[in-house]
Amino acid sequence: MSAEHFVRYETDGAVAVITLDRPQTANAQTPGILKDLDDAWRRADEDPDVRVIVFTTTGKHFSAGHDMSGSDPSADGRSLRPKRAEDGKLVAEDYYDWETRGYLEYAKRWRDIPKPTIAAVQGKCIAAGLMLCWPCDLIVAADNAQFSDPVALMGIMGVEYHAHTWELGPRKAKEMLFTQDSVSAHEALRTGMVNHVVQLEELRAFTMQLAHRIAQTDPWALRMAKRAVNHTLDTMGFSNAIESCFDMHHLGHARALAASAGRTVVMADLDRMKAAGRTDS
Ligand code: ZN
Repeated sequence: MSAEHFVRYETDGAVAVITLDRPQTANAQTPGILKDLDDAWRRADEDPDVRVIVFTTTGKHFSAGHDMSGSDPSADGRSLRPKRAEDGKLVAEDYYDWETRGYLEYAKRWRDIPKPTIAAVQGKCIAAGLMLCWPCDLIVAADNAQFSDPVALMGIMGVEYHAHTWELGPRKAKEMLFTQDSVSAHEALRTGMVNHVVQLEELRAFTMQLAHRIAQTDPWALRMAKRAVNHTLDTMGFSNAIESCFDMHHLGHARALAASAGRTVVMADLDRMKAAGRTDS
């Protein structure tokens, strides 16, 4: 059976546009989709005629995060997936390895592609949705955009790529994680998390205009400008903090795996399993 594809790749002059096109599930991300997205990012990176990369999604919402349904119509033989023991149980080290390769390394690689990247965000951007826009250099938000990371409800301190504090500042980051409330486009503009807020119907045209404008600047100068900013953030501790917070994220998964004898990776599922009388504990 051939895999179903939800990632489109187009070029418009010197601008590559990568589009996640799965509006029927609010652009929920499966392992196969993430692999296809990574292929598209690599293609844009490796094409010498591409100077700027735009990332968009279709439909009402930017992304609802990881697809928790367990189905992956976009999967093929190359897709990464968590390893399971023969009895179907997960062990902490396999889950850690899977999320390192299948989630964290993608976000880190996309962040450091040596060309300017711009995300255009509309509607809801939830949890792992943040891992699609935060790695981009610039973010243009529609005025209806809302950013949230409610994974504390699942017993975890935030998504795998913990850029919250850098993007929002410590107090807003804590409030977002403590309350699970959304940050509006205008609040995100105030914290510096997004560059522009535009009307929804202008989102695509505004983003493409910005991309084409940037594409006129010398690619080497752009590459070094990006490197200078990312290197400054790394000198301030960005990448080390991302790595250590990923381990805290996995302490959350390991806690749930320990409490459920390998049956679940999030505490909310454990509560539901207990309520249904499906655990021994
Ligand atoms: Zn995780």
